[in-house]
Amino acid sequence: MTDQHISELRKTGLSEIFDDDWTRTIYSVDASHCTIKPLAVNFPSDEYDVQKICNYAYAHGISVTCRGAGTGLLGQSLSDGIILDFTKKMNRILEIGNDYVIVQPGVVKAILDKELAKRGKFIPTDPASSNYCTVGGMLSNNSSGPHGLGYGSIINHVQGVKLVYSNGMIGFADQKKYDEKVSKMLKFIVSIDTDVKKYYPNVSKNSSGYRLDAIFENNHINPQKIFVASEGSLGIITSSRISILDIPEKKSLVILKFENILNAVLAVPTILEHKPVAMELLDRGAILGGWKDGDSNGNSSIMLVEFHGNDNSLYDQVDKFEEKLQEKAKILESGHDQNSIDRAWNERKNSLNNAIKKGIGSRKPAGIIEDTVVHPDILYDYTILLLKILDTYKLDYVVYGHAGNGNLHLRPIVDINSDYSKSLMSSIAYKVFSYIGKVHGSISGEHGDGLLRTKYIPMMYGSTMYDIFKQIKLIFDDKKIFNPGKKII
Ligand SMILES: Cc1cc2nc3c(=O)[nH]c(=O)nc-3n(C[C@H](O)[C@H](O)[C@H](O)COP(=O)(O)OP(=O)(O)OC[C@H]3O[C@@H](n4cnc5c(N)ncnc54)[C@H](O)[C@@H]3O)c2cc1C
Repeated sequence: MTDQHISELRKTGLSEIFDDDWTRTIYSVDASHCTIKPLAVNFPSDEYDVQKICNYAYAHGISVTCRGAGTGLLGQSLSDGIILDFTKKMNRILEIGNDYVIVQPGVVKAILDKELAKRGKFIPTDPASSNYCTVGGMLSNNSSGPHGLGYGSIINHVQGVKLVYSNGMIGFADQKKYDEKVSKMLKFIVSIDTDVKKYYPNVSKNSSGYRLDAIFENNHINPQKIFVASEGSLGIITSSRISILDIPEKKSLVILKFENILNAVLAVPTILEHKPVAMELLDRGAILGGWKDGDSNGNSSIMLVEFHGNDNSLYDQVDKFEEKLQEKAKILESGHDQNSIDRAWNERKNSLNNAIKKGIGSRKPAGIIEDTVVHPDILYDYTILLLKILDTYKLDYVVYGHAGNGNLHLRPIVDINSDYSKSLMSSIAYKVFSYIGKVHGSISGEHGDGLLRTKYIPMMYGSTMYDIFKQIKLIFDDKKIFNPGKKII
């Protein structure tokens, strides 16, 4: 991008377009280990600014990539074109109804949570990064979190989106109305002579690939869901309408200690029978000081199990649960008030930060197999496989995650700068993702594909489905200028 491009963009009426080295350096990193320096950064004020950027970029073949808080773990918000940061000016809550909220993409989830709580409402999707991540980033990665077990991922709550496409066209999609590009996509899906659902994993959460399977569900068409998990590679979300729920009146949290991770994951199917809304594992590296009986070296495994209800029958449910689990685990604590529950969740929210502290210098817990999902019934077998692979290479690791969904956040600790480690991580990824493909799991439950995992999407879905994804990309973004290298190579 040249000075001429910048001055031409300014002439379109855009003020906040920066191409100084300092700004470009700041936007060259995110929460992954990847680095790409963009050409320029813009802070759009409204959808018309977004349109101006897209019109210009489309005409000149320049890439456009959106950015929320930059907490994506796989390099999703990095690119070498124009970066659009929504946190500065497109960060407003536009409307709160009885069962929905309409927001701009740059609103921070924790700020939205506070506003909704004043009305006794909440959006249950609760990534550990909620204090800084944005709704635009959550939608585009299909974020989830501990309560994804009981309430699903953000894809289960999105009612509609407004968009700008790469050619500058305004788009919209919800159950009742959608634009012509979405209509073309629906016709394309219907025309495919195969049941696409059979290519999708048999798991409760999935952020890999494009989520065609979520569009046709329970006799409804939800075309807006194609944009969820798409990492800004199909359209730029300028506002979204999301379902909100009443905050449950009663909550209980039980903290269990297992002798080791295998005993913990073996108990998952039994725990699921008791219908918790969250079941989180904290193991090696994920605990710093939270429970005196838990330790950070993985000699014991902590499990947080939460139940929600609206009357006292919840406590009978919890009593039965504790009675049943006594044979398998030590019950460290049970909390029934919001303060005790929040204290425990704050410790869980710090898991990744705690895990990162296990790194020294360039030896760090490395992401790539850090977000796999298998059906909970086979989580025990899968964990054995993972531990065997780590043992083969004599690798230390950190592990925690959403055990109830079969979604483990496991990161081997390697020297991220060494060529040997890079090829080692590739061969580990190959082994793990081959297994994931065979058991109809997902290579990503909530973090997404980004720069690092996109090349493995065909391993999970197969070439037929990957070719369909390529067609979907072209329907929305024919010049492939939106977030290159993500979802489609
Ligand atoms: C400490 C830590 C803990 C985390 N815990 C969790 C967790 O528990 N659960 C979980 O799911 N994730 C977790 N994450 C991952 C990450 O925080 C989430 O995916 C988060 O929702 C990303 O939001 P963001 O605003 O930072 O998005 P960014 O990283 O800035 O962007 C993410 C993607 O969204 C796209 N995007 C942003 N805005 C738009 C828009 N307006 N239109 C189209 N595309 C857009 C970007 O291009 C990019 O592809 C964690 C990350 C960290 C660092």
